Amino acid sequence: MGKNKFYPGIDYFRCAAAFLVIAIHTSPLVLFGETGDFIFTRIISRAAVPFFFMTSGFFLITRYACNTEKLRKFVKKTAAIYLTAMLVYVPLNIYSGYFKMEFFLPNLIKDIVFDGTFYHLWYLPASITGACIGWYLVRRLDYKKAFGAAFILYVIGLFGDSYYGLSEKIPVLKSFYASLFLVSDYTRNGIFFAPLFFVLGGFIAENCRKLSGRARKKSVCGFTICFVCMFGEALLLHYFQLQRHDSMYLFLPLCMYFLFYMLLQVKGKKCENLRNVSLCIYIIHPWIIVAVRLFGKLFHLQNILIDNSVVHYVIVCLASLAFSMIGTALWKKYKPAGENGRNEEKRAYVEINLENLEHNARVLKGAMPTKCSLMAVVKAEAYGHGAFEISTHLNKMGVEAFAVATIDEGIQLRKYGIRGEILILGYTDIYRAAELKKYDLMQTLIDFDYASALNRRKTGVKAHIKIDTGMHRLGVEGKDVEKIEKIFSMKYIKVCGMYTHLCCADSLKPEDAAFTREQINRFYKVAADLEKDGITIPKIHIQSSYGLLNYPELACDYVRAGIALYGVLSSPEDTTVLKLNLRPVLSLKTRVVLIRKILKGESVGYGRKFTAERDSVIAILPIGYGDGFPRNLSCKKGMVSINGKYAPIAGMVCMDQMAVDITGIEDVAVGDAATLICGQGNNELMAPYVAARSNSISNELLCRIGERCR
Ligand SMILES: *Cc1c(COP(=O)(O)O)cnc(C)c1O
Repeated sequence: MGKNKFYPGIDYFRCAAAFLVIAIHTSPLVLFGETGDFIFTRIISRAAVPFFFMTSGFFLITRYACNTEKLRKFVKKTAAIYLTAMLVYVPLNIYSGYFKMEFFLPNLIKDIVFDGTFYHLWYLPASITGACIGWYLVRRLDYKKAFGAAFILYVIGLFGDSYYGLSEKIPVLKSFYASLFLVSDYTRNGIFFAPLFFVLGGFIAENCRKLSGRARKKSVCGFTICFVCMFGEALLLHYFQLQRHDSMYLFLPLCMYFLFYMLLQVKGKKCENLRNVSLCIYIIHPWIIVAVRLFGKLFHLQNILIDNSVVHYVIVCLASLAFSMIGTALWKKYKPAGENGRNEEKRAYVEINLENLEHNARVLKGAMPTKCSLMAVVKAEAYGHGAFEISTHLNKMGVEAFAVATIDEGIQLRKYGIRGEILILGYTDIYRAAELKKYDLMQTLIDFDYASALNRRKTGVKAHIKIDTGMHRLGVEGKDVEKIEKIFSMKYIKVCGMYTHLCCADSLKPEDAAFTREQINRFYKVAADLEKDGITIPKIHIQSSYGLLNYPELACDYVRAGIALYGVLSSPEDTTVLKLNLRPVLSLKTRVVLIRKILKGESVGYGRKFTAERDSVIAILPIGYGDGFPRNLSCKKGMVSINGKYAPIAGMVCMDQMAVDITGIEDVAVGDAATLICGQGNNELMAPYVAARSNSISNELLCRIGERCR
């Protein structure tokens, strides 16, 4: 996610990194001796390419995945850039006699796949390969293992690069690397070099929310120490002449890790443009080097433009920068029209405010006793909000317990990459026990017979026992303590918790409150009986949203929060003991697709339920009950907001569209947004009010919002 976030430090450093790459190819300090040149181009500048890999990894690699769409896009885009760059360098290839080389075809293939058809272009195929490997590792393994695997690749690369002098002395290694070098000129390529940095970038993206002042100091210290170490390492390797090439150092990944953290903390203005500019500098600078030399020769300016390596470097940098800025500006102006954000073309869409979600999670957590954790209830597509977006965001911010209604919802969460506990609140067919185990899901034991049947599957599943304390829906009856104890002793069931559900915790009426108290007492009685018999219950939980809001004093291990997490109450008139400052997370919107004038007396829609009492203006909205918008809000019972004004629904809501009366609302145009459920403020369109108007509660209204809107 981090959708609204931007990282100026990273943007600035992109340009710096591009200039470092130019340094590698121009050796600006060579005037001041070989060592100075080595330090600048072979040590300091070696941060540049790993930085680019990490930046790509930062925005691309994640263990949370809905599908492989993002990776596919990245590969496609990079391949397109690579193809263009290859074509751009064909003239220089011709000039350098590239096409006359021996074994042309195998070498060409090798260059395209690994080494690049011009000396700097290896970066692009390495990006593609590195991204794919990094992505696959992170999706398949957890970060630790992915990191381990990428590091092994890196070490293999290391001994074919900076440490090759050592491997050369060992015959087995020597022949191993000899065969490697038949396929790729270097080990600093997409297989051995890039993946580690991609994984590192992704890892940082998922963990950088917790940045604090201390982290800042740590990253500066860490970078300084690691850089000094890398410096020493490089000079030693250089001194002993062990290097075959000098891209890979043992301390480089650590240096990059801390450097990246430092850059994340830089504050400033957003400069997304620098992204394209730096890429362009990277790709074009060898051409600029040639052009500057040519220019120098033609105008006899060699002594100014070329002979002084520092001046030469600066001129190449400036010329590359100027060219790239003009190039990207032109590209921006004339590029083929692309997608402008996904909501532009959607007929009806939900907007999710993740900051509000985070706020609610924090507020709820704050209202719980300290040892109690939030179990986020994300059943029914997270109450219509979209389970992927909601659960991954919560998981990233540290929520580690989730509840779903069905096994398939649970499996889906695992496929998204959610780690932590996932409790299935509803029934699962016992024949799916193997899947429960495979995806590490916890099953609710809905009664004793069910528990026995599940046990007989001999699979070994984790479970929570549900206790019926008066709702009479799911659960073992509280008075059957013996049966509950038997469940604890079942061989193939690992009881991880025990819970109950309150059926009128939302009501503060004395008789309802008394009933709730009775439910709570019954539950604690069961727990006490079990403990008396020497059974320890790992976790207990009772409250859902209203349970917390009205009985905040209960000290359990979890609160199973659903509706409150999404920032609304079920009904507008509900009062609660705790009055938390919760913020709605979802808005439901659509766009005006047609505006038409209706004369007095004409009708609109099915059944002619709307007849104009005056000449009217009607807007057609492409959303209906097929999208989950309640049909019983037809005929003025419901309304939408357009341009900040309310427009009543005209006639019947259809399956896929509806009409609203916009007579008197000024300046409505086709394409304008219309809000049906709104997040902000004390507003008629907040979910509880809309729900109440349709004789329901927010929970139903929200979770019915259809797939077509997400
Ligand atoms: C749905 C559900 C919840 C969440 O309820 P909210 O009122 O939305 O917080 C909690 N526990 C169980 C058993 C549920 O089915």
